[in-house]
Amino acid sequence: MRKAVVAIVGRPNVGKSTIFNRLVGERISIVDDIPGVTRDRIYSKVEWLSNEFHLIDTGGIELGDEPLLVQMREQADIAINEADVIIFMVNVREGITAADEEVAKILYKSNKPVVLAVNKVDNPEMREEIYEFYSLGFGEPYPISGSHGLGLGDLLDRVVELFPKHIGISEEDEALHFCVIGRPNVGKSSLVNALLQQDRVIVSNIAGTTRDAVDSPFVYDGDDYVIIDTAGMRKRGKIYESTEKYSLLRAMKAIDRSDVVLIVIDAETGILEQDKRIVGHAHEAGKAIVIVVNKWDTVDSDQQAMKNFEDEIRAQFVFLDYAQIVFLSALTKKRIHTLMPQVRLASENYTRRIETSVLNDVIMDAVALNPTPTVRGRRLKVLYATQVAVKPPTFVVFVNDPELMHFSYKRFLENRIREAFGFEGTPIKILARKRS
Ligand code: GDP
Ligand code: GDP
Repeated sequence: MRKAVVAIVGRPNVGKSTIFNRLVGERISIVDDIPGVTRDRIYSKVEWLSNEFHLIDTGGIELGDEPLLVQMREQADIAINEADVIIFMVNVREGITAADEEVAKILYKSNKPVVLAVNKVDNPEMREEIYEFYSLGFGEPYPISGSHGLGLGDLLDRVVELFPKHIGISEEDEALHFCVIGRPNVGKSSLVNALLQQDRVIVSNIAGTTRDAVDSPFVYDGDDYVIIDTAGMRKRGKIYESTEKYSLLRAMKAIDRSDVVLIVIDAETGILEQDKRIVGHAHEAGKAIVIVVNKWDTVDSDQQAMKNFEDEIRAQFVFLDYAQIVFLSALTKKRIHTLMPQVRLASENYTRRIETSVLNDVIMDAVALNPTPTVRGRRLKVLYATQVAVKPPTFVVFVNDPELMHFSYKRFLENRIREAFGFEGTPIKILARKRS
């Protein structure tokens, strides 16, 4: 199911990131100690009443020393390309500027729905001043105040009204969606091509089976898959297309539509800083993951080399211990056949359900083996557990007091669940709930 994407566009200092942070709020991540993930966030999920959508702050994509008007054009372009609805933000205190008019001109031609938000309307008297903004040509201006959190409800109600009709309706096909992410030049496109040309792959070219131009449906060993190609569109000469933030944004959008994420690492260069940031974001999304070490033809590919590389990955990405690693060459196609079985295994585990009675046997054995901790004289009591969701598998453990369930004990229970059931390739979540 695809969620709507909303982008905020506007000059520097009108208050875009203030509004972004307010709407996104404090989101709980599975682990919060991954470097670089929470800083400078420009893309995130927003929950508004019963609606969920993704929000982009286009102002967060830095375009170096480009003149302001060029930056504005590029950011408006990003909003048009990536979003279903655009929030065009201006500032009541400065009125309409040349840069606002530039943005308006581009948005006007795009045919994308635009909602005009006039920020910094901090008190009711200032509402008089929003009328001049009618002249931008986007109908009624919505007065808001980022600092005081005013007017956001009306603004979002309007944004939600403008979502395209098909949004939120389940996709009719049951195919497993996966995407290939990684820094530039690790071999993502080569890998997608190699996969689609494999012996056991039948690429379907039936018109209308894809919604997105870069989705490739195919059949492997009797099962339906869709590969979402993030590398597919690029090098069209836009300034922003070569920025790291923009490629990350594209990758995150693809991850959101995927069940399994393939993270490609280049064996020739080894793991770099940018790999770590990408991996952190992929992990945070809570999807099944397969790590692909590509360009395996460039190293002496004996067992020891594989072991060494695996140790390096395990050391660098401690939080990804559930992900399986495959070594292959997209160029020579050596070992390429080892990939799809891992994609399938990861997706099976991602959607796997464990019967409550079997789960409780494992949990109770675990508790007997490792007595629950006490905090200030009070002992954690584990009563029973049940799986409440898949994608990823999520378990609720009922206890006397959730405060007593520390991270380390959760981790212990997770390890026991993994030992008992496998769950290779997928994260699992454990939530503690009170039941007396
Ligand atoms: P951006 O460059 O568009 O992302 O703008 P920022 O969110 O960084 O905000 C620029 C400045 O405007 C900051 O100093 C904010 O504190 C301030 N600001 C944001 N929203 C409001 C508002 O509603 N009222 C007032 N008075 N200041 C605001
Ligand atoms: P992307 O930017 O991640 O999509 O990377 P590309 O697929 O465009 O590949 C970048 C470069 O790496 C190209 O010159 C490819 O030919 C090369 N390449 C890709 N896969 C392999 C591989 O398995 N082995 C070797 N030696 N080169 C590869």
